[in-house]
Amino acid sequence: MRKTLYLKFLLAYFIFGFFGFVVVATFVSNMTFEQLRREKADALYREATLIANTYAADLYNNETSLDTVKKQLDALDTYLSANLWIINPSGLMILDSQAPVDVENETVIEGFDPTVTEGSYYTVGTFFDSFTQNQLSVFAPITSGYKVRGYVVIHYPISNITASCNSLLNISYLMLIILFLLSLIILIFFTEMVYLPLRRITEATEQYASGNMHYELQIDSEDEIGYLGASLSYMANEIARSEDDQKKFVANVSHDFRSPLTSIKGYLEAMLDGTIPPELNEKYLTIVLNETERLIKLTNSLLVLNNLNTKGMLLDKNVFDINKIIRNTAASFEGTCKNKTIAIELLLTGDELFVSADVGKIQQVLYNLLDNAIKFSHPDSIIKIETTEKHNKVFVSIKDRGIGIPKDDLKLIWDRFYKSDLSRGRDKKGTGLGLSITKEIIHAHGEHINVISTEGVGSEFIFSLPLDEDENED
Ligand code: ADP
Repeated sequence: MRKTLYLKFLLAYFIFGFFGFVVVATFVSNMTFEQLRREKADALYREATLIANTYAADLYNNETSLDTVKKQLDALDTYLSANLWIINPSGLMILDSQAPVDVENETVIEGFDPTVTEGSYYTVGTFFDSFTQNQLSVFAPITSGYKVRGYVVIHYPISNITASCNSLLNISYLMLIILFLLSLIILIFFTEMVYLPLRRITEATEQYASGNMHYELQIDSEDEIGYLGASLSYMANEIARSEDDQKKFVANVSHDFRSPLTSIKGYLEAMLDGTIPPELNEKYLTIVLNETERLIKLTNSLLVLNNLNTKGMLLDKNVFDINKIIRNTAASFEGTCKNKTIAIELLLTGDELFVSADVGKIQQVLYNLLDNAIKFSHPDSIIKIETTEKHNKVFVSIKDRGIGIPKDDLKLIWDRFYKSDLSRGRDKKGTGLGLSITKEIIHAHGEHINVISTEGVGSEFIFSLPLDEDENED
């Protein structure tokens, strides 16, 4: 593909040069010749009419001698580089600028016919075989008393016109060559701006196709090619990132599965071999049960994620009191909050606030957000959960005074498997799935979720839900 594109352009370039040459050699050449012939004929016709009205007329009126007119014609012959004749309508030569006056040996032009010009004032040819080479012969009648007494004929060799035409054409050829060389600039531009970047893009795609997603593609131009390069490299980055994320995710998930399984195995073995006395079995079985629950939770979120991936989300919408759900969710975290001495403050609008949504999924959203808020809060701090009603929507805000989210991470936290570096120390169990599930749920409701966060100060997550007006009015 690479070579042919360049060759195609080169071919187009040479075809352009070839046709340029053909056009100059045929079309332009013909036009120039025609133009020169017409101009020459016009100029000679003016001269011929002038002679016909002055010297020649005088000659026929016997007001001047043949010799005087001959001298005038000779002078004009030299001046115009043309052969001047005065002839009778019968074809009898009266004067020839290129032959001496010879009254005895009269020259007659055989077959002379003044209508040869066919309505025009000039003709091209050998003029009744009087010349060996083609001539441009211009006619002007000499009239007196409304009668044509003779003709002034000026012959100009066509070869002279061809010579002038050729010298003009040489200029055209020169211009064509200059133009052809100048258009090399286009070829250089094409090479620099299209061909070479395209070659780099092709190389990059080959690298990407062979799995090297980290191959660096650098195209600096700001045109469509630059945009294509940038999009391609963005795509490769995204794929590379998602591959990295997948790997990280598998590592996280395996780790998360392994630690509860190891502890379950340890406790069960210890119970079986008697290391744990039977009277303590209940205590350790409870621990085993908790670990199993953790595993179920993890498996569930993986399933939720898988469902989101494959068929979007089916919502089971109904009308419920969001304030009540918030109170219940907050209550379920009471134990964890007590351990960390964190207080949850509820600032709920009204006693009841009805929304229309999938209650189970919204419960999960609240759970994820509150779980994060507690995980990332400093001990002895307050988490505020607030509901507000505006423009037929209910806004739920969960605000903590925890570690906050670095600015660069703000966009990434919604991505699947993403865990910020800052959070790793505090949250070893997180899989980085919570917020992406949360976002998918809110978006499936046609609503929005946003975050405002300052590193070291705290974070606030706000999402909207559709208010159920009928229920709220009652
Ligand atoms: P995880 O289940 O691991 O918590 P999430 O998708 O819920 O994953 O969160 C992704 C990342 O977003 C977290 O690892 C953390 O870095 C950041 N994050 C989420 N909520 C908060 C919060 N309230 N305060 C600070 N960081 C947060």
